[in-house]
Amino acid sequence: MSQKFALPCPACDDATAVSAAQAGETIVCSCGQELTVPTLRKLQTLPFSASSEPAETRQPAWQLRHAALSAALCLAAVAGGIGGYLFTQRPVPPAKLDRQLLAQAAQQLETMPLEHTWHFWQHVLHREGLQAVPTMSEVAYVQALRAWRVQLGLAWGLAGLATATAGCLWLGKPRSA
Ligand SMILES: [Zn+2]
Repeated sequence: MSQKFALPCPACDDATAVSAAQAGETIVCSCGQELTVPTLRKLQTLPFSASSEPAETRQPAWQLRHAALSAALCLAAVAGGIGGYLFTQRPVPPAKLDRQLLAQAAQQLETMPLEHTWHFWQHVLHREGLQAVPTMSEVAYVQALRAWRVQLGLAWGLAGLATATAGCLWLGKPRSA
């Protein structure tokens, strides 16, 4: 059994027993504080520890948790960003039918050679933003609005969930050895 040194913790009054072999490693104090074991030269200036218990090395479980925390934070940022983008992409309601313009068009249609009327009518409809019947664009708008709300809800819900997960992971940081 090699000699242990008493590594003091800046966060509490406790001292953790470390061996020379642990120089440079990161350990976890009983209070949860992460401590870096100093180099051998500095280690030898520390008092000897009465304890022969080996210090607990940094737990792989926490490293996994730390990775999960980072992933959750990334997900929260990405989903939040998508939510922010979607928020600016709210569907625009279709333009109202311009009765006056249609009346003018109808007048022109009367004096126009018959073979031109179809293209002219299509042109007017297209300028009005109408693909076919006015109610179709209304239906498309309502559907687009519904889809937009679902997408926005999903993005912000996911962002909130990821933030909550990150918060739980952070609070779940191990505090006892
Ligand atoms: Zn401590």
